Amino acid sequence: MKRRPFLGALAASALPAFTNASPAAQAQSARVPTKITLLGTGTPQPSVERQSSSYLVEVGSDAILLDHGTGSHHRLLETGHRAVDITHAFFTHLHYDHCMDYARLVLQRWDQGADRIADLDVYGPAPIRRMTDLLFAPDGVYGPDIRARIEHQSSIDTFAARGGTPPRKRPAPNVREITAGDVVRGKSWKLTVGQAIHVQPYLECLAFRLDTDDGSLCYSGDSGESDSIVELAKGCDILIHMNHAFSGTAPSPAFRDAVGHHKGNARTAQRAGVKTLVLVHAVPSIDQPRIREQIVHEIQQEFSGKVVWGEDLMQLTFAAPVVTTSGY
Ligand SMILES: [Zn+2]
Repeated sequence: MKRRPFLGALAASALPAFTNASPAAQAQSARVPTKITLLGTGTPQPSVERQSSSYLVEVGSDAILLDHGTGSHHRLLETGHRAVDITHAFFTHLHYDHCMDYARLVLQRWDQGADRIADLDVYGPAPIRRMTDLLFAPDGVYGPDIRARIEHQSSIDTFAARGGTPPRKRPAPNVREITAGDVVRGKSWKLTVGQAIHVQPYLECLAFRLDTDDGSLCYSGDSGESDSIVELAKGCDILIHMNHAFSGTAPSPAFRDAVGHHKGNARTAQRAGVKTLVLVHAVPSIDQPRIREQIVHEIQQEFSGKVVWGEDLMQLTFAAPVVTTSGY
């Protein structure tokens, strides 16, 4: 169990550090390599093996979610983390398989956090702010629930037992709407927003590049083959790319252009010069023995780096990258 003990961490942070080591040495010894966990590698299709899109990046003291689709919050629990551990949530687009567990994240974080943690920082394309209001405002979907938890004595008792001091505040995520070209800076990371090619103009669709002291990650979100992804991913250690379809099987040009397919991904990874290509978002019809191997083999004809067939709860670091599914 590697979950950061939330209340324990709060208590420990107030303790003096009795050590002779220099601050720099302490920081060095305490430094944990950035870790990427694939929480959801599936699609909108129901699956117990693959939840919908979500990726957890633990960098420094921050725990960042990239998308949080259907069922992925359960995967987060399986890693030992809880909603209160998450500091930032970024959304590439508002297809439900990328954002349906947003409400669960916010409500559980608010409820369990008991006003003792900062509100969640949320970034995504418009209309993420409207979605947030429609979910959590007084007249929103969860408005009556939130009011009950704030005002009923039984909920006040529970809130106080968790360390809160009534009256409690409403959940109020710090929402910032982002577009391609925006840059968000954290304590030890920088996230650059890129353009995905997917289902515009119905939904704005973004991709992300995350640069850390350990290495760089690009996440395509949902995207077809695209020069903008190549540019965004240039020189990255890891590219997580939608690999929805087997190349050449698209029912229409529009379908082919909107979703990632394996030969396009091979070209993208090679042109971008990434070290490792992680394939995710595969429909069940290609997530099969022999087809998987054929896809990886054909990608390796074009792409000289490492190819990983992503699975839920797989972990990667920038160092090797080490890939494991047994870390939790
Ligand atoms: Zn999508």
